[in-house]
Amino acid sequence: MSAGRFAPSPSADLHIGNLRTAILAWLFARASGRRFLIRVDDLDDRTHTDIAHRQLDDLARIGLTWDEPPQWQTAHPGRYDNAVAQLADRGLLYECYCSRKDIAQAPRAPHAPQGAYPGTCRDLTDAERETRRAETGRPPALRLRTETVEYTVRDVLHGEYTGIVDDFVVRRGDGVAAYNLAVVVDDAEQDIDQVVRGDDLLPSSPRQAYLARLLGRREPTYAHVALVLNEDGARLAKRDGAITLAEIGVQRALTLIADSLGWQADNVDEMLAQFDPARLPREPWIFSP
Ligand code: GLU
Repeated sequence: MSAGRFAPSPSADLHIGNLRTAILAWLFARASGRRFLIRVDDLDDRTHTDIAHRQLDDLARIGLTWDEPPQWQTAHPGRYDNAVAQLADRGLLYECYCSRKDIAQAPRAPHAPQGAYPGTCRDLTDAERETRRAETGRPPALRLRTETVEYTVRDVLHGEYTGIVDDFVVRRGDGVAAYNLAVVVDDAEQDIDQVVRGDDLLPSSPRQAYLARLLGRREPTYAHVALVLNEDGARLAKRDGAITLAEIGVQRALTLIADSLGWQADNVDEMLAQFDPARLPREPWIFSP
């Protein structure tokens, strides 16, 4: 059955912007009759279980409900290994020995898009690969051999969005699944067909949708919602003052979020009654604690 989700990384307590995105994800799912799931994206933050539990508590305290116990990414590494093996069997992966610095300094074709992998390791001969392996002395990352340079996704708020699809990393040198692979595999395994998240991730969606298709999975519907920024136009951070639920308080946080969306509401059910995706603000919400 189809589902929407919110997938926080347990790197810090959720701030009012994250809570607003979580509420929007819940509203999109509930308003379209979908189930709603929470996933703890802990592949990169595996030691922060205390933060993850606080995040789950905060989501419950603002009134969100979910239909299955939250899944933790670190609980099922086999899921990612299977997808990597499937791609490897099809000859779609190659080893990459580049450091960030190598990539930044690599010569680029004149029209290569900014931020795209320059292809340094794509066509190495066996001998060159051996040399690179000996030179770097660290295990390689695995990159996807893509057949395109861009891909178009449909986003409820942004319409058709075309972005870069380069040879992106699917498994890091340390053996951990890369974010772009993990998110696609997890969403597919959980039958998630609606992805609502901050618009900082919009540029990642073409890579993810392309990979979903390669893996024979359906592409989700996307809704990338505007972020909450501070008065300087930067992302909210601790130094901005009171931004977490513990600091703001549940009731005030809910009122502020409702207000930022143009509604008068004290709880998420009242927000659901007023929810209309077509009328959501497209501009960032400037928050001053
Ligand atoms: N865990 C990611 C984050 O917190 C979001 C993953 C996603 O929504 O696709 O930035």
